[in-house]
Amino acid sequence: MTTSRGNIIDGAGYAAQLRERLKRHVADLKAAHGLTPCLVVVIVGEDPASQVYVRSKGEQTLAIGMESRTIRLPYTTSEAELLNLIADLNAERAVNGILVQLPLPKHMSSLKVIDAIDPDKDVDGFHVANAGRLAVGLPGIVPCTPLGSLMLLQDAMQTYGDSFAGKHAVIVGRSNIVGKPMAQLLLQQDCTVTIAHSKTRDLPAVCREADILVAAVGRPKFVQGDWVKDGAYVIDVGINRIEIDGPEGKKNKLVGDVDFDAAKAHALAITPVPKGVGPMTIACLLNNTLKAFCLQNNLPVPEGV
Ligand code: NDP
Repeated sequence: MTTSRGNIIDGAGYAAQLRERLKRHVADLKAAHGLTPCLVVVIVGEDPASQVYVRSKGEQTLAIGMESRTIRLPYTTSEAELLNLIADLNAERAVNGILVQLPLPKHMSSLKVIDAIDPDKDVDGFHVANAGRLAVGLPGIVPCTPLGSLMLLQDAMQTYGDSFAGKHAVIVGRSNIVGKPMAQLLLQQDCTVTIAHSKTRDLPAVCREADILVAAVGRPKFVQGDWVKDGAYVIDVGINRIEIDGPEGKKNKLVGDVDFDAAKAHALAITPVPKGVGPMTIACLLNNTLKAFCLQNNLPVPEGV
């Protein structure tokens, strides 16, 4: 095993390779069965960041040869109207994946909306049935960001001739969409898992114990360099927009939840922000759509999907 430090985990490169693999599977399915997976994304309101994500999801779905439908609803849509739409999409055989972009307007319950999606079409993996399947080790749909993070870790382990079993993984953050499913996935890989959160005592000391450190906090550069154990794998899930001074005045910059330059000096391998976990999230959404399509049509799920 190498003892070098500061290797960069190329999430953007890995995501591009994954999309290429998926594109080939989609073409093969079309040729063999005359069927094409279809992903429907529903967005309610005008949240600018959500608009960008939704556009990107649509473009990437089409780019690998899948069918993409984007349904844009006004902010004033009622919860009942959205639930009716979901019921129609659940019933439509040609629709294989349904994603309702979060956050939803304040007058809607996202738990109720997610609960209305058919778990077999829940390509975000947020439905309680999929969370339960993950928790008890049954096959299901795994949330995209943790799945993408796991794929990057698996690839890094392979690169360094390393393995998960017995490693101490510390996940900072306990959200239902990142922290908790990430913990389940690493537990399945035989890691010893600690989930830290805002009430954790002496977080720096907890992080220093981590062979694998996953940061999903939502605070720019929160994890300091000296919290990172020498030789650790660091996965930075955070996406934070900060303002910095440039030669032409103030400009926006994306940073993660880890102080990248300081952490890099200690980590064996680390994901950057941008071009780390971010691109894996949409690639895994496509992965989940293909998986859902295969399961719904009683077709074998291609290896690695
Ligand atoms: P949430 O806000 O839902 O959860 C944040 C977690 O961090 C909570 O569990 C919270 O603890 C914990 N936390 C907050 N402050 C501290 C602190 N001072 N010390 C320790 N723990 C703390 O965020 P998400 O999980 O949705 O997202 C996390 C980050 O990942 C964000 O930057 C988000 O933008 C990014 N993200 C990136 C994605 C991608 O595609 N790369 C996809 C999804 C998210 P507590 O529970 O106690 O409040």
